[in-house]
Amino acid sequence: MPEVLDPYEIAKIQLKKALDVLNYPDKESVFNRLSVPERILEVAIPVKMDDGTIKVFTGYRSQHNSARGPYKGGVRYHPNVSKHEVIALSMWMTWKCALADIPYGGGKGGVIVDPRKLSRRELEQLSRGYFRAISRIVGPDIDIPAPDVYTDPQIMAWFFDEYSKLYGYNAFGVVTAKPLELFGSLGRIYSTGYGTAVAAREAAKVAGINLQGATVAIQGYGNAGYYTAKFLHEWGAKIVAVSDTKGTIINRNGLDPDKVNEWKHNKSAKRSVIDYPDAEERKEGDSKYPLFMDVDIVIPAALENQITGENADNVKAKVISEAANGPTTPEADEILNKKGVIICPDFQANAGGVIVSYFEWVQNREGIIWTEEEVRRRLEEKIVNSFHAMYEAKQKYNVDWRTAAYIVAVDRVVKAMRLRGWL
Ligand code: GLU
Repeated sequence: MPEVLDPYEIAKIQLKKALDVLNYPDKESVFNRLSVPERILEVAIPVKMDDGTIKVFTGYRSQHNSARGPYKGGVRYHPNVSKHEVIALSMWMTWKCALADIPYGGGKGGVIVDPRKLSRRELEQLSRGYFRAISRIVGPDIDIPAPDVYTDPQIMAWFFDEYSKLYGYNAFGVVTAKPLELFGSLGRIYSTGYGTAVAAREAAKVAGINLQGATVAIQGYGNAGYYTAKFLHEWGAKIVAVSDTKGTIINRNGLDPDKVNEWKHNKSAKRSVIDYPDAEERKEGDSKYPLFMDVDIVIPAALENQITGENADNVKAKVISEAANGPTTPEADEILNKKGVIICPDFQANAGGVIVSYFEWVQNREGIIWTEEEVRRRLEEKIVNSFHAMYEAKQKYNVDWRTAAYIVAVDRVVKAMRLRGWL
């Protein structure tokens, strides 16, 4: 049977698996309730292009569950965005916020577009148009968007401005990961990678791996990949390979994450890591290569469905800490579990972003600014706590890591729903 790769189907399979273990007497009703979003809005976004023609883009906002608080989650700009993908990602946000124990539900947005093909003016028009179109269903107490794939603090500034103009006040709390000048939080820029690195560090302890000298391979060198590499490197690990869409670079003596990042953004003729001079070996066109290397820790930091039933057996690492959303399919999970690989699943390992988004929202609402040390300390605490909650559930229920994380998250959401009389 071909493996199911529709992210929404995967999200439902994972939920069902967790409910089967939790085994509530009404588990079917719980599944029926949690397998659909509370609301999904589809919008048409007309944009006047630089050549004078009007193009209409399609955007979505999926609001999965609000039992524990306002919907929270990023907005993705990507040509492959689909309704199903957005729904799945919004479900994952519900679990991510619950596992991190922050007072939010889950939401996610997306626009079908390749933003790299837009001018800055077109990108601004698209961003303002999207936010106007969803403005009735978002708000600081309702739904709080943030960045995701190919969206950034500048786009958040446009979102915030558009909403503030519409509602006639400075609604700082309506989006997070804003630029610092507009009261984004210190530390937000590296928060996802920092969290992924802390998760990997905790998992390494359980696996008996000493981080000093531990070898790490990273698939994807965007914000999350780069900062995960940077922190693990700071803590003594050796980054032996990184990749991006153009391929993989390898150096067994260790790459310097800052230099590679500087190269990719400011020096590379290809805007890629691939032509980085200090590499021993290159795998042009193979961005998956790091996933299957003989290293201690692997960090998938690209897109979904990278480790599948077909290739999971080739994984050699003892620890996987998922910076990307959905990089491992359910079939792959089973295989990796049998092999004894410790997986910090996406919604545990990449929660750093949304955790600091929460801190930003708290600061905005209180009109105060925390120090970077305070942000980092609180972030680290949240990731360590969620790792250990997951580890406890794993031991108690004797399940794989992802299911353990699901059990903690789903149970928190279900308890809130029961108390509110929704179930
Ligand atoms: N897009 C990020 C995520 O998937 C961040 C979401 C947020 O900060 O709300 O977790």
